[in-house]
Amino acid sequence: MKPAAFKYIAAESLAQALALKAEYGDEAKWLAGGQSLVPAMNLRVAQPAVLIDLNPIEGMAGLTVKEKPTSEPHALVIKAMTRYRTLERSAEIATHCPLLHETMPHVAHPQIRNRGTLGGNLAHADPASELPAVMMVLNAKFKAQSVRGERWIAARDFFYTLFTTALAADELLTEIAIPLQPDTPTARTRTCFMEIARRRGDYAMMGVAASVTLDANGVCTDAQLGYLNAGDTPILATQAAQSLVGQSISAAQIQAAAAIARDEVQPPGNVHATVAFQRHLATVLTKRTLTTILDFRF
Ligand SMILES: Cc1cc2nc3c(=O)[nH]c(=O)nc-3n(C[C@H](O)[C@H](O)[C@H](O)COP(=O)(O)OP(=O)(O)OC[C@H]3O[C@@H](n4cnc5c(N)ncnc54)[C@H](O)[C@@H]3O)c2cc1C
Repeated sequence: MKPAAFKYIAAESLAQALALKAEYGDEAKWLAGGQSLVPAMNLRVAQPAVLIDLNPIEGMAGLTVKEKPTSEPHALVIKAMTRYRTLERSAEIATHCPLLHETMPHVAHPQIRNRGTLGGNLAHADPASELPAVMMVLNAKFKAQSVRGERWIAARDFFYTLFTTALAADELLTEIAIPLQPDTPTARTRTCFMEIARRRGDYAMMGVAASVTLDANGVCTDAQLGYLNAGDTPILATQAAQSLVGQSISAAQIQAAAAIARDEVQPPGNVHATVAFQRHLATVLTKRTLTTILDFRF
């Protein structure tokens, strides 16, 4: 299979890339890791007239922990062209963002993780992907740049529907900022990611990213539950999560939260899993992630 003819431009700088996109608009596509775009072009599902290759641009990959001077949480800032493999192997991510660290080995296969980028993944906005759900749970925000300037978009406002985001035609996602949750005597946050796929590396039939914060008395002060392959966008089960807040969470409360989550997800169903089975998986995975967090992590 071969793509339709297209013009290839290796961008030399961010400014040049943004100017090219402003000129070509929807006719042009950014090329990041190419792990979704190139197969789509080969199948002729995507037929961009112009490809603007981001790979030659220096300074678009890497990650850093940014310390905030005030009481605001510190942030892990990841540049958009950072490869999955870097995220998977980063000691800083393992230390500061264990949810992302735990999730990375579930994303596709090692070969794809060598090329795929965080920015490409989020901009692609596949609701079956792990990372959009994780970013919603972590309350990340995304920096979009264009010749018109830059703006930050909350992950929770970014995913509009299948493969559609808040990015305008001339905007490039350049940075992802994740607020960090340090342990303090009054707030301990623990997280867990689980998914069920037919084979390791396949897109999952259902997946859950969970985060729970407890105060010094073991009372839940915050809970987040994010689901993948559970709707047209990543889904936050806000009612299920809210049912845990203010509680010293028991097994019965986990069971109740899982039952609420079962009704909050909106899975599409497919050839591998019916809607009923996907809802069942959401229930089971909610129980497992919350039980793992509460049994083994505190
Ligand atoms: C066999 C296979 C299995 C896979 N399994 C999984 C899986 O289990 N889980 C999963 O999450 N993914 C999976 N993927 C998809 C993979 O993660 C892709 O790498 C990812 O979705 C896209 O990232 P990319 O860097 O390759 O982007 P590209 O393919 O280069 O681009 C994807 C889209 O995003 C746009 N884009 C890229 N970068 C930016 C940016 N910075 N700003 C704005 N727009 C941008 C492009 O123009 C394009 O439209 C799989 C892919 C394959 C081929």
